[in-house]
Amino acid sequence: MTTREVDLFVIGAGSGGVRAARIAGNHGARVMVAEEYRVGGTCVIRGCVPKKLLVYASRFADEFEDAAGYGWTLSEPHFDWPTLIDNKNRETARLEAAYIANLERSKVEIVRSRAVIEGPHEVRLVATGEIVRARHILIATGAWPSLGADIAGREHVITSNEALDLKELPARILIQGGGYIAVEFAGIFNGLGSEVTLVYRGDNILRGFDDDVREHLRGEMTKRGIRILTRRTVEAIEKTDHGLCAQFSDHESATYDQIMFATGRRPNVAGLGLDKAGVKLDERGAIAVNAYSQTSVPHIYAVGDVTDRVALTPVAIREGHAFADTVFGGKKIAVDHGDIPTAVFSEPEVGVIGLTEAQARERLARVDIYKTIFRPMKAAVAARDTRSFFKLVVDGNSDRVVGCHIVGPDAGEMIQLVGIAVKLKATKADFDAVMAVHPTAAEELVTMREKAASYVREAAG
Ligand code: NDP
Repeated sequence: MTTREVDLFVIGAGSGGVRAARIAGNHGARVMVAEEYRVGGTCVIRGCVPKKLLVYASRFADEFEDAAGYGWTLSEPHFDWPTLIDNKNRETARLEAAYIANLERSKVEIVRSRAVIEGPHEVRLVATGEIVRARHILIATGAWPSLGADIAGREHVITSNEALDLKELPARILIQGGGYIAVEFAGIFNGLGSEVTLVYRGDNILRGFDDDVREHLRGEMTKRGIRILTRRTVEAIEKTDHGLCAQFSDHESATYDQIMFATGRRPNVAGLGLDKAGVKLDERGAIAVNAYSQTSVPHIYAVGDVTDRVALTPVAIREGHAFADTVFGGKKIAVDHGDIPTAVFSEPEVGVIGLTEAQARERLARVDIYKTIFRPMKAAVAARDTRSFFKLVVDGNSDRVVGCHIVGPDAGEMIQLVGIAVKLKATKADFDAVMAVHPTAAEELVTMREKAASYVREAAG
């Protein structure tokens, strides 16, 4: 049997792999991409996209309630989970087909198989046993939910993967974790009518985010009826006639219909054959790469969540694109991982970029803080008890806005635009020079005049 040869073999057709394959194909490379599950990867199939659809669904509950304040009379709204899941599945299938069509347009061959590395230039397709010779290999296998310690009853736990395809909406759900996924799914299930408890091992949710954001979001989630238990973990789970009984580390216990763990994700490296090619991992078990996504083996690269950089879809896409331009396009490009805007699709939403107040005070000699809390205009007439929060972190010496933190409706949309200003190194004076758009929430960004706090770091020694 003659061995097929390609210029690029991509393992994994998620966001990073697909972008790299397409761009390399457009640069004229012969590209093969192997995918063992569905084209589109975590983001399209079991992450960002289906999650956001469920977020949209969950927000109608408030809309129906608020409509009354604006004079509408509605009959009792009824929610049907299977309809939502069917429609969500139809949309992910449509996007998967679009991804496939785009790959084919770039003349990329898609193979439906797990692929493992057998040697520096050899990849085996597990489905057929065929060995493909590749001039370059790109590993873009992403990450997978990690369930933590092997506690009793862990087999009953679901992750975000299963949460998106449950047969029915759980009446009571316990979510363990305090990161992106935990707070987003807490909002989804709460909005759709489940009784939600979130249990987190630390002091407050969203570790790493600005402390004011963490406090504000926690308060808003609590007001919505989400029970947040901190400094606790789930120690054991028992299946009973009444549901799943969770035993907590404080010796309390409670019963739920579903228990979901959102306790982080681990890079998908197991069984890939990395040792056969000599690809090295870092201390966290992710593939070690340089600024060009190159591994310890010069012709093998890795992008996205399988590396330990910033686990976000747009970052994986940028890394995949930069890799393809560098290796096949004759343009050496290193991705800039600084000042990445990000949104948490909790309820209310969070949008952030740049330094938190604590980081700024640690790194900068002078820091000015501007912040405001207010009731969104729409909520006032609807008599909804909710508040939005805006904060700017400013370098007191250069006047540069080094951080922006928003909690409130459309925070994700706003932070994308603030991101342009921050990347352009805009100063607070630049923000102030912009005329407000009235009446909007975003106008707060250009109308905060009073410093909430000012810090000057004591000179060392
Ligand atoms: P995160 O790392 O954000 O959060 C994991 C949470 O689980 C943390 O609160 C962590 O606590 C806690 N935890 C970890 N291990 C244990 C354990 N053994 N027992 C109890 N608690 C534990 O991971 P997620 O799973 O929420 O999301 C993974 C990544 O995916 C995110 O970091 C983000 O990069 C990306 N993502 C982005 C989204 C977006 O852009 N909107 C949406 C969803 C995911 P501690 O804080 O103490 O470490």
